[in-house]
Amino acid sequence: MSIKAPKGTKDILPSEIKNWQLIELKAKEIFDKANFKEIRTPIFEDTNLFKRGVGDTTDIVNKEMYTFEKSDRSLTLRPENTAGVVRAYLEHNFYRESPPLKFWYFGPMFRYERPQAGRQRQFHQIGVEMFGIQDATADAECIMLAVEFLKSLGLNDLVVEINSLGCNTCRKEYKEELKKAIAPFLDGLCEDCKSRFEKNPLRILDCKNETCNKLFEENNLKAKVSGIKLCPECAQHYANLKTYLDALNIKYTENTFLVRGLDYYTKTVFEIKSNNLGSQNAVCGGGRYDGLVETLGGPKTPAVGFAMGVERLNSLIPQVEDTKIDYFVVSDNQTEAIKLTSKLRELGFKAEFDYNSRKFAKQLEKASKVANYAIIIGEDEINNNYLTLKDLNTSEQKKVSLEELIK
Ligand code: ATP
Ligand code: MG
Repeated sequence: MSIKAPKGTKDILPSEIKNWQLIELKAKEIFDKANFKEIRTPIFEDTNLFKRGVGDTTDIVNKEMYTFEKSDRSLTLRPENTAGVVRAYLEHNFYRESPPLKFWYFGPMFRYERPQAGRQRQFHQIGVEMFGIQDATADAECIMLAVEFLKSLGLNDLVVEINSLGCNTCRKEYKEELKKAIAPFLDGLCEDCKSRFEKNPLRILDCKNETCNKLFEENNLKAKVSGIKLCPECAQHYANLKTYLDALNIKYTENTFLVRGLDYYTKTVFEIKSNNLGSQNAVCGGGRYDGLVETLGGPKTPAVGFAMGVERLNSLIPQVEDTKIDYFVVSDNQTEAIKLTSKLRELGFKAEFDYNSRKFAKQLEKASKVANYAIIIGEDEINNNYLTLKDLNTSEQKKVSLEELIK
């Protein structure tokens, strides 16, 4: 039996690569304009980084990590990149520089999840992380960048949802309120929710299990809990964020039940959703994580960022068509053909020639498939020092000199 790509992984084929290149190009352009610097961290890291950084009550750490041992060391393929960027930030003493420190990244992530539309085991994320700014201007900057980036790809009809999870103090009371509301039907919830109940009840709101979701509805959970009551500082921060978003004309909806799957978020959380994605509708998720740098052994550092799912994003943008090359050199003299091709490329044109020097008819057939123009170098052309230029769209042909061609 032939070997196939592992379940949940996908080849990105040449026919699709233009889209990926466009997405990367736009990311570079948009993030560069905002003076974010690209960072490339390893694809595998010490397993403890994710246990500590992502949190051991999360699905990611409990069920989804690709972990392996090498020389008694436990390593994990990165399931997300915030923890890796924070590790690099600390390892290279970026916290000693004057804030803000602003990074962006693009790369593959690995999660052992059930593959389905919009969910793979190897997928890609583009993200930004911003360190050192406590003010909600940083949160607004991240949301603004995400929106601008999506707009640059022609996506204007996305929904930005925001919420504030407050700080530990704000959350304490809410957790109790939530637990009280959930307790009567806790037995019916999935095993994950049962364990979240004590460890991190907020995350129950993010459960994807259908049975759980049905129970939430039947028991009117959302009506029974009021949402987090923010302390004055967190409330002010959230109000400021909304002021900035309004000033930027960025439309958003407030979703008091928006929590995110990772443990490290504080204050702002946001998601950008599309109605054209079916049930895996989130393209982008992000928020503030003021505690993470400290959790990973650094000084107390405010931080905010987001990650976008590139496959989901890609499924929303139209396929970018591959373009034809400029010239196909047709000749029975391979030396002349290879020389002219090289010259054309040096001049900045896209050019190819026939590696096997087949019959002219065959070469022209190939040329009209891949190129806009054929340049024919036959015996007469060589003897009389000219080239024949054939427009492959109109079939018009004319004699030109190399100099004319170059012009
Ligand atoms: P979801 O709720 O859809 O599982 P998440 O909360 O796990 O998302 P994050 O970890 O914040 O998402 O990742 C940010 C984005 O990465 C998501 O909004 C989504 O677009 C994308 N993403 C996450 N997991 C996958 C996956 N398994 N396959 C493809 N894209 C993914
Ligand atoms: Mg997930």
